[in-house]
Amino acid sequence: MMARSRRSMHHFALPFLAAFVVLGLTILLQAQAASSPAKLSVHWEELTAADFRQGIERSQGTCLLPFGILEKHGPHLPLGTDLLDVRYTALHAAEQEYAVVFPEYYFGQIAEAKHEPGTMAYSRGLQLALLQETTDEMGRNGCKKILIVNGHGGNNSLLPFFAQTQLDKPHDYVVYVFDERTPETGGPPKKTKIDMHAGESETSKMMISHPDLVHMDRATSESGADQARQKIPEDVYTGIWWYTRFPNHYSGEGSAANKELGEYQMKWWIDSVVKAIRAVKADDVSLKLQNEFYEKAKHPLDTQP
Ligand SMILES: [Zn+2]
Repeated sequence: MMARSRRSMHHFALPFLAAFVVLGLTILLQAQAASSPAKLSVHWEELTAADFRQGIERSQGTCLLPFGILEKHGPHLPLGTDLLDVRYTALHAAEQEYAVVFPEYYFGQIAEAKHEPGTMAYSRGLQLALLQETTDEMGRNGCKKILIVNGHGGNNSLLPFFAQTQLDKPHDYVVYVFDERTPETGGPPKKTKIDMHAGESETSKMMISHPDLVHMDRATSESGADQARQKIPEDVYTGIWWYTRFPNHYSGEGSAANKELGEYQMKWWIDSVVKAIRAVKADDVSLKLQNEFYEKAKHPLDTQP
């Protein structure tokens, strides 16, 4: 008797219970959808066409172009070190301050490593032409503020030159360049003095972004010491300077790397890119004055002091 009545109560209550659960879930999901908009990927290539439109709107037309390279990185780091690290940084920064991040780009200046295996060194004209067409196409797609995040030291003359030449003819977007990767001070004390390429800092950063690609046991198999073979004053520049000092395409001691330094430097780099994205978004001067400049440049004799 008891058992039968309990069973009949179950038969009676279950449909109601199920209906309540379904109703409750529906309300919960609707509330969630209303309070937080759908998550948009920061990766250009992962967005649908419609989501891309939303991404451009959400980023206020701010897009990142992380710029890497393919070159030897000492005996212990992968060829794509600069590409892998700059993308790790830019993607983490864009997650914090939304921006659309352009896919893998590594068509920069690296003539000085053509003697090493795996280097992809595009010619001077193509580097500039490809970068211009890339930013032009980004601009045509609504990226009115393009922040190039440079991950490769060999691009440090190319990128300001590229930005300067944006003034030669009108563009309806602004090119910004962010070219810092390593804090000058702060964090765990560094053990080495020379630390330019695949050395203590760069190896430490890779230990954070891609630890599985660091072959620490090989870090001392080649020398990253400064060979100081060129005897000309420091203020006289030559393209061969790097090879005269670091013919192994290795500058510093990767073996001095450690995770603590990597964590500090990676966080500093990501934070710096976040700050740069915010500054670029807030900049309402550059495009306006760039347009004024293009207009005046058409008839310089009318420019009044
Ligand atoms: Zn590098």
